Amino acid sequence: MSAPERRSRLVVLAGPTAVGKGTVAAHIREHHPEVWISVSATTRPPRPGEVNGVHYWFVSDEEFDRMIAEDDLLEWAVVHKAARYGTPRQPVDLALASGRPAMLEIDLQGARQVRRSMPEALFVFLKPPSWEELVRRLVGRGTETEEERERRLSTARAELAAESEFDQTIVNHEVHAAADELVALMTLD
Ligand code: 5GP
Repeated sequence: MSAPERRSRLVVLAGPTAVGKGTVAAHIREHHPEVWISVSATTRPPRPGEVNGVHYWFVSDEEFDRMIAEDDLLEWAVVHKAARYGTPRQPVDLALASGRPAMLEIDLQGARQVRRSMPEALFVFLKPPSWEELVRRLVGRGTETEEERERRLSTARAELAAESEFDQTIVNHEVHAAADELVALMTLD
């Protein structure tokens, strides 16, 4: 068999905390199996229901240090001053070489790093319908402490201002519609 005609384009999805990036990614994982979604490595512990190798690779600080030292990560960042998150490089290369639509769901610092190393990627900003809705979603999730929530809200305020750095904006009114819009962008020539 001959190799695929061309590499696919990487789509990088970023946006403020609690905007629903993870939910949109989960929807795509479930309904669009043709899309390859990167599994990040993180030093934070799993939340209930999270599966190693599916939602994240849950690794120790030592393992994360090793990945950085060996240049195994396409990008990495400390998110919410709490834990390190990074994108394993090799699986991304393999997915692109196979011609599959490929996507990263990462924070803004990570997106800026990918912008430098892979400027040909498509950078998509997921935006809440309003600031009030973002606060409601963050409080509604109920998985963070008050202090953690304050920290995330102050990060979110700065992150919202970064929209202009992106190629495209999708407003996350509703998860199905946002996911469909994103998949349409991936398969567009
Ligand atoms: P959570 O801990 O709620 O799953 O994710 C926290 C934040 O980490 C989210 O904003 C998510 O986009 C970001 N994140 C997840 N994986 C990565 C990654 O590989 N790199 C970077 N830079 N951020 C990530």
